Amino acid sequence: MVTRHISVLGATGSIGLSTLDVIRRHPDRFSVYALTASTRAEELAILCREFRPRVAVMANPEAARTLVGLLSDLPDIQVLGGVEGLCEVASAPEIDTVMAAIVGAAGLSPTLAAVRASKRVLLANKEALVMSGKLFMDAVAEAGAELLPIDSEHNAIFQCMPADKIRDPAGAGITRILLTASGGPFREHSAEALRSVTPSQACAHPNWSMGQKISVDSATLMNKGLELIEACWLFNTTPERVEVHVHPESIIHSMVEYADGSVLAQLGSPDMRTPIANGLAWPERIDAGVAPLDLFAIGRFHFERPDLVRFPCLRLAAEAFQAGGTAPAVLNAANEVAVAAFLEGNLCFADIPVIIERTLVATAVESADSFEVIFAKDTEARARAREQIGLLTV
Ligand code: NAD
Ligand code: MG
Repeated sequence: MVTRHISVLGATGSIGLSTLDVIRRHPDRFSVYALTASTRAEELAILCREFRPRVAVMANPEAARTLVGLLSDLPDIQVLGGVEGLCEVASAPEIDTVMAAIVGAAGLSPTLAAVRASKRVLLANKEALVMSGKLFMDAVAEAGAELLPIDSEHNAIFQCMPADKIRDPAGAGITRILLTASGGPFREHSAEALRSVTPSQACAHPNWSMGQKISVDSATLMNKGLELIEACWLFNTTPERVEVHVHPESIIHSMVEYADGSVLAQLGSPDMRTPIANGLAWPERIDAGVAPLDLFAIGRFHFERPDLVRFPCLRLAAEAFQAGGTAPAVLNAANEVAVAAFLEGNLCFADIPVIIERTLVATAVESADSFEVIFAKDTEARARAREQIGLLTV
């Protein structure tokens, strides 16, 4: 068995901690080269004491100085700071695998560094792919990187496809992808009730325990919108061939329909350690610490169509993908700004899609010719989204 050498980007987050839990169960298979976090030096220091990485990175330079102090008795651990540090450990010659689990646009540069260095990239950071779509997939092809989906739905779809036809679903006889969605905590709320929901209600997902941003995205259905775009890029398909099915039990993680009428599904408990273990050990299977599925206890599965009137974010994402160019980067940036404002108590939940739609209307679509164009649009869209929030609250 070969040992895989890994950098975990976003180690203190929900996906990062689940990744380390799987790694912890297989010390013979995995060796942690680097751990990274944003601002919480104390939390990263605790992880460093357990996993003894060669390098620890804090994206925030001040937090990096704090970490140096916290690890002063462990001089073998090199501490780096800033985006440069993140990119360095994502592309280091000592590693073969990168868990890309930074949340949001901040993950694009380090994830891209891993891709360009031809690593096995375990992609949790869907925003990176949504922002830069074709450029990102071109970079994967050019570098010969191995891109494995960690998002539970995409990992399920990946498992239901022949491994050599991931980028050629039609050639594999695939007619549709059935992308499942939990519907989030407000699935049964009226449009009126959606105006008064609080951040803590939005973050209390019925089935999954996740970071704050993706929890709010699940509640608005923007998460499914981002995942629709993610699926189109990963599996080289179009939104017409991807149909969202709300499945409140979150046991079927997605399905693939074939020309002969077969529908293959991947099922499991809603626990991210399953897709993470699948990516870490691919093509082997390892224990992930996940409890066996008890279908008798679950009893029934339900399915319904998404309600695009109460949850416009899914429609906005599909439209942005159709518009192409820089539109998905604008969608993503506006969403990040609107979600942050909601979490800070400065925007009503029901106004998240309003801000995104107004930002999309106010920002010209350009052709996405380079990553520089994408980063510039991201900055522009953030400023426009903040402007729109200001207009709404005066
Ligand atoms: P989280 O908020 O729990 O953790 C985010 C991590 O990113 C933390 O380690 C944080 O320190 C780091 N980070 C935040 N801002 C940063 C910055 N500016 N620079 C560098 N690092 C930064 O988020 P999460 O729920 O673990 O999600 C991570 C990614 O995985 C997201 O893209 C999310 O959409 C995706 N994802 C998460 C889940 C889940 O179950 N949590 C499922 C599917 C996909
Ligand atoms: Mg998902």
